[in-house]
Amino acid sequence: MKGLKIISGPCSAESEEQVLRTALAIKDLDIDFFRAGLWKPRTRPGCFEGVGFEGIPWMQRVKKESGLKICTEVARREHVEACLEAGFDMLWIGARTTVNPFQVQELAEALKGSDVAVYVKNPVSRDLELWAGAVERLRNQGIENIGLIHRGFPNFGKSVYRNATEWQVAVKMRMLFPGLPVICDPSHIAGDSKFVPGIAQEAMDIGLDGLMVECHISPESALSDRSQQLTPCQLRELLGSLNIRS
Ligand code: PEP
Ligand code: MN
Repeated sequence: MKGLKIISGPCSAESEEQVLRTALAIKDLDIDFFRAGLWKPRTRPGCFEGVGFEGIPWMQRVKKESGLKICTEVARREHVEACLEAGFDMLWIGARTTVNPFQVQELAEALKGSDVAVYVKNPVSRDLELWAGAVERLRNQGIENIGLIHRGFPNFGKSVYRNATEWQVAVKMRMLFPGLPVICDPSHIAGDSKFVPGIAQEAMDIGLDGLMVECHISPESALSDRSQQLTPCQLRELLGSLNIRS
């Protein structure tokens, strides 16, 4: 889309019907990857923790029937192995995983030898070194197809957003790793769908390379991140209204 990398889809895969209906509703929007979390890293236990391995064939069906490339979050070696086997096109490392060098190292080793795209979200702690270190651990295992996702940093209630934007950290990462796409996840920054378009436009204004936006066929019934997911119609409007400056 307008030269941007666009990743969209629901926070979590909840049912085969939900991922399929969402994918079919957005497949004509020039989306690079369809996302859905299978293993959800919930901050507190007892929330919906994802459907896990059971959702893999649902995503394969999405790929087959919508023609969209598919991606999910991986946090353990077994996730990587199962997703590579299943033909996922991109895997991302979540903010609660990027903070942990042991875990990143395990993922990097599991990814070794594959040419799958890997996106790395900024860590939940505001530490550029951890984010950079994750990229280096992947590169040390020969992984070259890497992207970065700015999803904001905890701001301890000091803003209306769920996480604060720290554009300067994203820009520093671009300077450290020239050539890697740096995209923004306005959904996890916003925490509320009404703030998503404004943050997405800010990301465009500072020249980021794309967006990861959560989109659910019926956000009001979502099992995770209900208030921040866009409907397919809102996603279409958002992508159509972005002002890309040269
Ligand atoms: C997600 O993308 O649904 C997610 C859990 O994101 P983050 O790792 O940014 O919190
Ligand atoms: Mn989410």
